[in-house]
Amino acid sequence: MGKLLIVGTVAFDAIETPFGKTDKILGGAATFIGLAASQFDIDSAIISVVGEDFPQKYLDILTDRNINISGLEIVKGGKTFFWKGKYHNDLNTRDTLTTDLNVLADFKPVVPEDYNDADVVMLGNLHPYVQLSVINQLKKRPKLIILDTMNFWMDNALDELMEVIEHIDVLTINDEEARQLTQEYSLVKAAQKIFKMGPNYVVIKKGEHGALLFHEEQIFFAPALPLEEVFDPTGAGDTFAGGFAGYLAASDDSSFENMKKAVIHGSNLASFSVEKFGTERMLKLNHKEIKERLRQFKKLTQFDIELQ
Ligand code: AMP
Repeated sequence: MGKLLIVGTVAFDAIETPFGKTDKILGGAATFIGLAASQFDIDSAIISVVGEDFPQKYLDILTDRNINISGLEIVKGGKTFFWKGKYHNDLNTRDTLTTDLNVLADFKPVVPEDYNDADVVMLGNLHPYVQLSVINQLKKRPKLIILDTMNFWMDNALDELMEVIEHIDVLTINDEEARQLTQEYSLVKAAQKIFKMGPNYVVIKKGEHGALLFHEEQIFFAPALPLEEVFDPTGAGDTFAGGFAGYLAASDDSSFENMKKAVIHGSNLASFSVEKFGTERMLKLNHKEIKERLRQFKKLTQFDIELQ
C-alpha cells in the first residue's frame, strides 16, 4: 500500500458566498487534501498544528478516515490558524478578509517515524519553510514530491518558496498564482518558466475552467465537470491536490499517462467538494457516487473525429 505524507494547514474557516455565510468551521489545506486522499487505498498521515481550541470532533473526522495524526501538534493554550474569505458573485474570485496564523507562526513540523520513507509527499499550502523542513527530515527521497501554494506565500515568503520549489517534482498552482510567480500571462510560458525553477510537472488549476497538466513538451487538459450548483469553492484546489496525490500514491506510477488520470481523479473529487459549505460534502461521499461521476467525466471529454 502506498504511503502518502501530507503537510498543510488544519484550520478554522469562516466563509461568505452569495448563498450564505458560516461561522468558524473545519477547514485547512491539509484537511481537504486528507479527506480527498482517503478515498484511495493508501496509508496517509497529516503533519500540521492546531491550538487547544480545536475540537476533538474535528480530530475524530480525520482519524475515522484512517488518517494518521501523530504529526498533528496540539499547542496548549494556542489558537488554531484562522482564515476568512468572501466570494464574489461569479464564485471564481474571492477576497481573503483575515489570515490569522496563530499557532502556525512558530510551528516546527516533526515527521512521524513511520512516514519518513513516504512514497509520495504532498506539501500543501502553508509556510514554505515548514514545507522545506519536512523534505529535509525524510530518510529517503520520495518517489514524488508535490507542492501546492498560494499568493499569500508569494507575497510574504517568496525567497523561501523559491527554495522549496527547487526540490519538488510537481507544482500545483492556480492560474493567477502561476502568472504572479512567473510574470508571464501565457500559461504555457508560465509552465516553461516553472520547469526552470525545479519541478518537471506543472498542474495549473483554472477553477470552473478545469486544469492543465504540463510535462516537457506535452500538455493535457481536463475540464471541470459543469455543475448545476456550486455552493462554496473553498478547498476545491486542495481537494484536487488530495485526489491527485492520493491516486498517485495508490498507483505507484509517475508517467505522464498516469498523471493524466491523477488529474481526472483530482478534478472529479473537487467537483463534489464545491457542492456544500467547507468539508460537508466530502464527509458524506461514497464510492458509488465517485464512480458515477468519473463516468460523466469520460462522456464529457470523449469524441470521435475523423482526421484525413
Ligand atoms: P483553496 O480554496 O483550495 O485555496 O483552499 C482553501 C483553504 O486553504 C481554506 O480551508 C483555508 O483554511 C486554507 N488557507 C487559506 N489561506 C491559507 C494560507 N495562507 N496558508 C495555508 N492555508 C490557507
